Amino acid sequence: MIISVASGKGGTGKTLVATSLAISLNDRDGVQLLDCDVEEPNAHIFLKPVITGSISVSIPIPKVDEDKCTYCGKCAQVCAYRAIAVFPGHVLVFPNLCHGCGACSYLCPEEAITEEEKEMGIVELGQSDGVAFVQGRLTVGEAMPTPVIRKVKEYVNRDGIVIIDVSPGTSCPVVQSIKGSDFCLLVTEPTPFGLNDLVLAVETVEELNIPCGVVINRDGIGDARVEEYCLKENIPILLTILLDTEVARLYSRGITLAEGMPQWKESFLGLFDKIRELVDERSRCLER
Ligand code: SF4
Ligand code: SF4
Repeated sequence: MIISVASGKGGTGKTLVATSLAISLNDRDGVQLLDCDVEEPNAHIFLKPVITGSISVSIPIPKVDEDKCTYCGKCAQVCAYRAIAVFPGHVLVFPNLCHGCGACSYLCPEEAITEEEKEMGIVELGQSDGVAFVQGRLTVGEAMPTPVIRKVKEYVNRDGIVIIDVSPGTSCPVVQSIKGSDFCLLVTEPTPFGLNDLVLAVETVEELNIPCGVVINRDGIGDARVEEYCLKENIPILLTILLDTEVARLYSRGITLAEGMPQWKESFLGLFDKIRELVDERSRCLER
């Protein structure tokens, strides 16, 4: 069971929900928390894992041997990312645009292109109170998080329960993170901004054909429009977290709700059961 925890915008409490859910399930076999918010991973603040390993993530960047190059331009024509440009007597590679797909070196008729590895970030592995922890970290200054996210997802254990903390928004890294999930939990707050970004997030998960449900955080600060939208769109609201100074205090100190207020553990276990029911029900419908 792979559950991704996403939000249309930052600051909704998505990581608090993801880590609280993981910690609530920690007496079950094979629970993992994957932090795919690789530009700003912060699940470790809540889980405080012991890091036991680190793997470098790199992509192959083309390097042109201009003694062999005939400036035919085929490499630039094939590059979908405009990461290589050919001028009379010169070839320019833009490493920050390159996705390392290898098409240019494969198609170069003169075999003038070799590849050099460029580190994009790291993946760290660890353990936290019964939860296997994996997080990606994009190197500062790098603009392409997807290779690091792909590497983090290589550690998914399909036989266990996998919680994926997704970066906020609806861009490529979000799609890369939630792709392949059985369910997507969308964390929002009941404000006009929350609703606007929730609508975008719902459109993204629907495009990927992944079932979703909503967690409303800081309930009480805004209005009822998020609830009305969910009702209208038939999206289940699976958990509501009231605006509460004790919750805010735990959040600011990096403590999960399951640890700081043990009564929340039951709520998160209930949330997991509801997700499982929805996933099972959907599987049955698809089988029919
Ligand atoms: S495809 Fe090869 S030979 Fe042609 S311009 Fe590019 S590097 Fe040079
Ligand atoms: S490896 Fe792919 S993305 Fe990079 S320059 Fe070559 S064709 Fe473009």
